[in-house]
Amino acid sequence: MIDLAEIGKTEYIKGIPASPGVVIGRAFVLDTDRPHVSAETIEPGQIEGEVAAFTAAIEDVRSELAKLRSSLEEELGEEHARIFDAHLMILEDSMVVEGTIKRVRYQRVSAALALTETLGKVTSAMERTDDEYLRDRVFDIKDIERRLLVRLLGRKADSMSRLEDDVIVVARQLAPTHTASMHQERVKGFATEAGGRTSHAAIMARSLEIPAVVGLGRATDLMDQGESIIVDGTLGLLVYRYDQAVLDYYLERQRRYEEFERSLLTLKDYPAVTRDGRKFELAANIEIPDEVDSAIAHGAEGIGLFRTEYLFIARDAPPSEEEQYEAYRHVVEAMSPSTVVIRTLDVGGDKFGPRENRRREENPFLGWRGIRYSLAKPDLFMRQLRAILRASAHGSVRVMFPMISSLHEVRDSKQVVEAARQELRTRGQEFDEKMEVGVMIETPAAAVIADMIAREVDFMSIGSNDLVQYALAVDRGNDRVAYLYDEHHPAVLRLLEQTVRAAKRRRRWIGLCGEMAGNPLSVLLLIGLGLNELSTSPLMLPEVKSIVRATSYNSARKTLLKAMSMKTGSEVRRYLEGIFRKKYPEISATELIS
Ligand code: PEP
Ligand code: MG
Repeated sequence: MIDLAEIGKTEYIKGIPASPGVVIGRAFVLDTDRPHVSAETIEPGQIEGEVAAFTAAIEDVRSELAKLRSSLEEELGEEHARIFDAHLMILEDSMVVEGTIKRVRYQRVSAALALTETLGKVTSAMERTDDEYLRDRVFDIKDIERRLLVRLLGRKADSMSRLEDDVIVVARQLAPTHTASMHQERVKGFATEAGGRTSHAAIMARSLEIPAVVGLGRATDLMDQGESIIVDGTLGLLVYRYDQAVLDYYLERQRRYEEFERSLLTLKDYPAVTRDGRKFELAANIEIPDEVDSAIAHGAEGIGLFRTEYLFIARDAPPSEEEQYEAYRHVVEAMSPSTVVIRTLDVGGDKFGPRENRRREENPFLGWRGIRYSLAKPDLFMRQLRAILRASAHGSVRVMFPMISSLHEVRDSKQVVEAARQELRTRGQEFDEKMEVGVMIETPAAAVIADMIAREVDFMSIGSNDLVQYALAVDRGNDRVAYLYDEHHPAVLRLLEQTVRAAKRRRRWIGLCGEMAGNPLSVLLLIGLGLNELSTSPLMLPEVKSIVRATSYNSARKTLLKAMSMKTGSEVRRYLEGIFRKKYPEISATELIS
């Protein structure tokens, strides 16, 4: 990876790459602090005025949110819009509304003070938990509080709707209410202190196709309003206070990136075939149904991973069968006749989920996650499987189970699929009787017994994100051990090779849908592995295709075997970088991800 300090004078922070591309622009530092509330009592004659002001503020915020919700629904669909339902519920909560009014009346304090005290009581307990779901709700409550206080105290909201220039939004965290106004032309990128690859803000950035970096740790206090900054969403950097040399470097990279993207898009309708004629299916990973448009625009030949968690977030009750069916069907029809691989719910680990899943666990990544959760919730699992099966009547669908670590789980899951089929037959509802059933290979256990699993499933897809974390015992979200997370580690390469070999021996279709499939360096190895499919973020597809088309399977095979003889991941990386600089100068120029 580049070292910016070698290029010029600069300061930068490293975060998590959330959405690729480079953007240079002025910082709009979002002030999410709430206005100051003074602790004074009021005169009895002011009480009713305060109550009326509070009721009016509630109504104002409600209609503001309803407007945001419907504009978001129009632009990005129901899944995104639903995120506001939790906010709207807070405004209707009697503990919040009645509680505040009671305080005004009986403690004779201003509505603003009564509100902060009422909400403070609710949030302080929630803040002390390790429960990610509850902490997210605290953030929603604070956002609502700020909006109400702005109404009550007359300070202007940090609305991004009044932006007059193009900006890059820098924030501690972005609430759905903020990101809702981000699809305006003015917002060209964003950078947040909190958040991971699957946080709301990251998902939103990818859907909007703007560069973004999240999980920076610090940012808002380092940046001045209007300061010129750079978001490097490909490498996950927020660059500020840079000199001309760094700016020139980024202007050049941005120019090349855009030119490169344009030239790559011309490949959209060509197949991903190597020089010596080996065909790879190039598919997209999506997290929300509307992303299917981006998948098609970037030339996806299918959906290799439809993560369904997003349908389940920010709500108290899981989605109905009907609602899920509509979401799956939308994607299936849009992709038809190509295949859509729908993964069943993978909550736990770093993924948010239904409320009851959020009990604190000492080791969430080793805990109640993925298929373990679904098998423990047969009603929920059956509902999702019926919805997926029904969607299979509208095109080519496969179902896939996450976090498999034993044959019991494979067999039990298949039985639930059979039970779901049986229910649909009884109901007389249509589905594809031949819908294929597969699993993710993302635990070392599954990789090691891939030959046994292959006998019992129709297909397999390697989840390299988790496989790397479990094989190397490195929490994929923990920045303290991030330096150990290494997809080129010899142990990982052996597991990958062994898994693909086991699948081939059984003549099973095998793909890979982790981030590794979108890393140009790793693609060389993946071609050599002889996978049937590579599935990655839609934005990365053109680049991956260009590498496949510029490579021969035979030479990639040799590259893989040579890499497998090496003793460390860094040795492998240096070797791959060397090949890249020599063979694919135009790709190296856009930056390699290390
Ligand atoms: C993976 O683990 O590689 C994968 C694709 O699944 P997720 O990132 O959703 O865990
Ligand atoms: Mg996974």
